[in-house]
Amino acid sequence: MRLVKFIKRLLVVSAIRRLTLHLTRGIPRVIMYHRFCDGRAMNRMSKETFEWQIGVIRKDFRVTSLAGLLDPLTKGGSGEAPVVITIDDAYMDFYDIAFPLLIKNGMTATLFVSTGFVDFKRWFWWDALRFVLAERKGERKTYCHNERAFCIDTGTEIDTDRTWNLLADYCLGTHDSERSRFIGEFASFMGVSLPAAPLPEYDQMGWDHIMEVSRNGVEIGSHTVNHAIMTSLGNDEKKEELELSKDIIEKRLGEKVRTFSYPNGKRRDYDRKTMDLLRRLGYIGAVVSHEGIYFSGEPYAIPRYSVSDDRVDFYWKLYGMDCLVKKIAGLFGRSAKAAQ
Ligand SMILES: [Zn+2]
Repeated sequence: MRLVKFIKRLLVVSAIRRLTLHLTRGIPRVIMYHRFCDGRAMNRMSKETFEWQIGVIRKDFRVTSLAGLLDPLTKGGSGEAPVVITIDDAYMDFYDIAFPLLIKNGMTATLFVSTGFVDFKRWFWWDALRFVLAERKGERKTYCHNERAFCIDTGTEIDTDRTWNLLADYCLGTHDSERSRFIGEFASFMGVSLPAAPLPEYDQMGWDHIMEVSRNGVEIGSHTVNHAIMTSLGNDEKKEELELSKDIIEKRLGEKVRTFSYPNGKRRDYDRKTMDLLRRLGYIGAVVSHEGIYFSGEPYAIPRYSVSDDRVDFYWKLYGMDCLVKKIAGLFGRSAKAAQ
């Protein structure tokens, strides 16, 4: 770990970044965002950092949409390092904060939309949980549900976030109907009534906003209709989520939808069957939410880097050091296996 820390510090030196960038040229970097803020807030990308990051990207990388990356006709030269900026869930803070900066810098991105939420004023379940916890600051108690006990602690922001993670983990393992019941019962337990529509803090983009960003060069991809986790669905439900969301966006925008982002996107949230279905329905690729390098292998499970306010970590991922370390580790793994 000390060695990693030392190498990370070296990346502050521009000549080292040039070298690692050169060694990893041609390898795409796909980065993932969800929420933005003006100032500072937990789990959100600050406007200041985002502006700094796109300045770095503009200087040394070629930006493309996800469809652009996968389309052989738009491939850049082998000396270039393509970057794909992806944003999931289409919150208003993307439109208000990130989109103007992308336009100012002449950059494209790929925005993944869950069509069943656009203009319907529906809560995303994770926001409903956050709202309930935020309404009851400074509490410590135990919530029991289906023979499970959850320690609810909203003492500090970190405690609240830990509690949210605990509850969200449970929710991720349940079907939609059980999840809604769980959140409803939990809200009653906490003595909170959930407003019918999300508060402004949780606002999502409407079709007017989505059409505007699309007209300005942002690619729109599908994120299902109901933000449904693919592996929790039967074949018919899965097909409907993938087909209908694509159809709705295409009718609204008058353009083909070619890319997809798996809701939640962890390894347990997608499978071979879903990848084959995506291909049959005319999608050309899909992104997941875990990290890794896309060596032009499987276009239906493209890994993404999550990025934070940590600038050295951004250098580490974007300039290819993470990729080099993984490549070297892979080589050692292979030679160790061969020697056995
Ligand atoms: Zn999502």
